Amino acid sequence: MTTITIRGTTLSLIQGDITKQQTEAIVNAANSSLMGGGGVDGAIHRAGGPAILQECKEIVSQQGRLPTGEAVITTGGNLRAKFVIHTVGPIWRGGTRGEPELLRNCYLNSLKLAKEKGIRTISFPSISTGAYGYPIDKAARVAIKAIVDFLETNEGIDEVALVLFDGNTYKAYQEVLDTEATMKDPRVHILEVLEILEREYPEVRIILNWRTPLELLIATILAAQCTDERVNEVTKDLFKKYQSAEDFAAADIRTLEEEIRPTGFYRNKAKSIISCCLALVEKHRGEVPNSLDDLVSLPGVGRKTANIVLGNAYGQEAIAVDTHVGRVTTRMGLATSKDPDKIEEELCEVIPQNKWTRSTHLFGFHGRKICHAKKPLCSSCVVRDFCQTGAFLLIGYKDCHEERVCSSTVD
Ligand code: SF4
Repeated sequence: MTTITIRGTTLSLIQGDITKQQTEAIVNAANSSLMGGGGVDGAIHRAGGPAILQECKEIVSQQGRLPTGEAVITTGGNLRAKFVIHTVGPIWRGGTRGEPELLRNCYLNSLKLAKEKGIRTISFPSISTGAYGYPIDKAARVAIKAIVDFLETNEGIDEVALVLFDGNTYKAYQEVLDTEATMKDPRVHILEVLEILEREYPEVRIILNWRTPLELLIATILAAQCTDERVNEVTKDLFKKYQSAEDFAAADIRTLEEEIRPTGFYRNKAKSIISCCLALVEKHRGEVPNSLDDLVSLPGVGRKTANIVLGNAYGQEAIAVDTHVGRVTTRMGLATSKDPDKIEEELCEVIPQNKWTRSTHLFGFHGRKICHAKKPLCSSCVVRDFCQTGAFLLIGYKDCHEERVCSSTVD
């Protein structure tokens, strides 16, 4: 038996027969008709007797077939468990039809129902991995993550067991549980994470070349969807020719387009630069303002650009979420959103304010050097022990734990 404890609740792996468990409730991997079937479902109905089937029929007559991911409860009939929670796992169709979310819902909805009924001990089988064909390694990851997430935010359940029928299934779940147990929560250990990155990249600084707040603002606008190195090549001459907001505001748009063409999206960028500099001249006497509200009110300036200017040109603490910062922090589990503004909010809650600007540089550089978009180099990563994604990639999970996270396209 393998056990970990989450906020006082034990989560155990047991190799055995779920119908013989003495927990208050056992979970049945049912089909949507609730009429019994093969595998765990058939075994529970056989051991529990006709009372369970009768209650299932009444539930179906009242509310229809049970949708995938939902859960209902009956008594346990002749079983040792007082209750059976019936849930319908997804059939595996390659993983592109929302199977992970549906499987996660099976565990979350069963636990929610148990909590509502005051049930303190509950046993789960490995849902969907029999005839429904869900790959065991992927199912184990979803199951344990769902249970851990629930227990981290809910009280009232003392014991959760995953009762696994055969040795192979047990081994797959054990591997995931061991990884979960050794992983450190990056939100709790954020200072340690930043110290490690600081030791790794002591020299890191903003890569864009600039001398004045205006140059940094223009360079940041040009850096959208472009590498900083290419922007630096372009601005070398650009900043010699245009030295003030007035110069950019008076630029001939076609000429400017050609001058910034190598940075891509040059038509939009030229338009943004001219409009932005016109606003600087009209409303700010040609100076770049030093407040977030004023900066984001300029045409073509979003929070990311504004925070880069505030953090670097004005020495204010600010987190700028670009594609690298967004990718690294969501993979690690420091943030969960896909929206850069929301990621910024989440990071501001976790990272001490005096480290906001520095953490932007550290995470951004780590993303460029190690945590690449397509193939993160997890085995060389110094913060792997704090990363929700890397730990699982290294034990053979080819896909990142959440596709939405790893396909992040934050600019
Ligand atoms: S362990 Fe892998 S996914 Fe996590 S931060 Fe490091 S490189 Fe990125």
